[in-house]
Amino acid sequence: MISYEKIFENNREWVKEKKALDADFFQKLALDQNPDYLYIGCSDSRVTAEEMMGAAPGEIFVHRNIGNLVVSIDVNVMSVINYAVKILKVKHIIVCGHYRCGGVTAAMTQEDLGILNPWLRNIRDVYRIHRDELNAITDYKKRLDRLVELNVKEQCINVIKTAAVQQQFVHTGFPIVHGWVMDIHTGQLIDLNIDFEKELKGIQEIYRLI
Ligand SMILES: [Zn+2]
Repeated sequence: MISYEKIFENNREWVKEKKALDADFFQKLALDQNPDYLYIGCSDSRVTAEEMMGAAPGEIFVHRNIGNLVVSIDVNVMSVINYAVKILKVKHIIVCGHYRCGGVTAAMTQEDLGILNPWLRNIRDVYRIHRDELNAITDYKKRLDRLVELNVKEQCINVIKTAAVQQQFVHTGFPIVHGWVMDIHTGQLIDLNIDFEKELKGIQEIYRLI
């Protein structure tokens, strides 16, 4: 475990290292941000957005919550998407889940989880939509992994449902929405290769907002 004091020690080291590479690093950082990526991931402490992507400060706009969910009445995630798309004009939106996700595991648990109930219901809804496929997987861990993947896909679809994404894409050809899973056993990022334009077309049959 990292001690509280050590965090500030580490920070001083980090500042030193950055300045050694570029004396004006923080002056430049203070000017503005211009990231090409919005990353929506899980709050899980093991899945660190920038570190696993090798990204520097200023390169990724980040939003994290339990289970990497994109819920239409969550003002937090909707504000993040809107700002990222309309103001920052990000080129890519990534929804990243991870195997052995506590949120997804909890959603597969049949008990009252208090305040988590309404949040996790969104993952239970993903299960309901894909019930036949998931019920056919007899191995519990494999079913859990598949639910992680399907949850990422459904959250990508929720991103595509937003007016901001639909409108910006028509005008600029961006952003493109991607679904990833981080394999917690190997550290590797898996691209689920979601066909963004196909999903957008399918979504707009019902959710067209332009
Ligand atoms: Zn998680």
